[in-house]
Amino acid sequence: MFEVPVEPRSLEAFRALLEPADHHRLERSVERFRDVLGDRRLWHVNSTKQGGGVAELLSTLLPYLAGAGVDVHWLVIEGTEEFFELTKRLHNHLHDADGDARPLGDGDRTVYDQSLAREVAAVETVVGAGDLAILHDPQTAGLLPSVGARGTTTLWRCHIGVDEPGPLAKDAWSFLSGDVAAAQRCIFSRPSYVWEGIDPERVAIIPPCIDVASPKNHPMSDATTAAVLDIIGVVPASGTGGIPEFVGTDGTPGTVQRRAAVTETAPIPTDAAIVLQVSRWDRLKDPQGVLHGFAAGVLPKHGDAHLVLAGPETAAVDDDPEGAETFAKVVRDWEGLPSAARDRSHLVRLPMDDDDANSAMVNALQRRADVVVQKSLAEGFGLTVAEAMWKQRPVIASRVGGIQDQIVDGESGVFLDDPTDVETFGRAVAELLGDPACAEAIGDAARQRVCDCFLPTHHFEKEARVLDEVLD
Ligand code: UDP
Repeated sequence: MFEVPVEPRSLEAFRALLEPADHHRLERSVERFRDVLGDRRLWHVNSTKQGGGVAELLSTLLPYLAGAGVDVHWLVIEGTEEFFELTKRLHNHLHDADGDARPLGDGDRTVYDQSLAREVAAVETVVGAGDLAILHDPQTAGLLPSVGARGTTTLWRCHIGVDEPGPLAKDAWSFLSGDVAAAQRCIFSRPSYVWEGIDPERVAIIPPCIDVASPKNHPMSDATTAAVLDIIGVVPASGTGGIPEFVGTDGTPGTVQRRAAVTETAPIPTDAAIVLQVSRWDRLKDPQGVLHGFAAGVLPKHGDAHLVLAGPETAAVDDDPEGAETFAKVVRDWEGLPSAARDRSHLVRLPMDDDDANSAMVNALQRRADVVVQKSLAEGFGLTVAEAMWKQRPVIASRVGGIQDQIVDGESGVFLDDPTDVETFGRAVAELLGDPACAEAIGDAARQRVCDCFLPTHHFEKEARVLDEVLD
């Protein structure tokens, strides 16, 4: 286990981004949070400091709480390869997907308990009685009984789930339910994710949000966008006139300096229309389906459009052992494409050594995209959808999981009803690429939707309400 420093951040950056009344409401939400906690320390515990939605949420939101005077800390547990293979299996099962096709067995319980026993000892050296701890996802659930037994108020937050749970999801519930029973509250992202057998009194619903003031979502001029995409080697340009700069999370300026690892036959022409999916290299994000849908449905109508599949460097996400394998499969499919499709499809692995620079890269990619897609087969929430919506991008995304809470179909985005339907997916992208007026209207409504529902304000308000109930 290690602690990730939480550097206090003020809410000032939001002033330029929100209406005065909304900014005031944000300030109030954080003050209320602080008042609810009083002198108690708040610990968040998860299993990776970067890559994926939970790390994104904690790295962006906790600094604002610290800035308001909350004594907040972030711990990241560590584990063996075997442990993370198992927790990835649990992750897949909670999405009702079979992942590595192995069932959960008795030996798995031993792997899980033994790995977490080491982490319990480490967590107990810092988290005390009277503190409050929010533990995230299956990786940390096993810590709940022992941390709670020491007098710490514990909440478990589950960011993944499925609307219609089948046998695989229920197996994962059985595996974890003894541990989860120790939590004073279980927080799910949407009502349909709530497990059978958990007392409704112990349940709370909090969807995630995006930090619109972070380097990932901060306004970025066209010139800077072009300069960032040039320097990372995704859309080369001569003389963009811009500097690949960003304002870091701590408020200091930075510049993007590293190139991404790009698998392609030739660079993207400067003015090409771009279709983008950003996600971890995870089978459930269906990068292979995106590749084939683009080739089959988009290129026949828009022969000059280009597809970018962007994700992190495959070794960078500690709790996702399947990244390299999934990426290798995407490369194999890419190699098998007809040459015209291969020439127009680009696989981008973004450097992860500097979180802020990585965020600026994602920001530039999302702003430059003409259409953003999220063709997930399952999705807890899908922060990438909200990120693109905030940037007024038209998004086409599968009607699964938390994406359903974000998009109003045909208004603030477009749903793909059957996420496995590659042809319909391709046709929908082609249609939107061919109708810029519709794409623009959808983009405008998308931004408003994020303002209405998925800002940190909404998140802090809901979280403070739950903490208040638990502490009462
Ligand atoms: N992300 C990133 N760099 C990458 C790929 C993804 O910063 O190379 C971020 C992405 O912008 C989003 C988060 O990782 O903020 C992914 O969250 P999401 O909820 O979409 O999916 P998850 O990975 O949690 O399943």
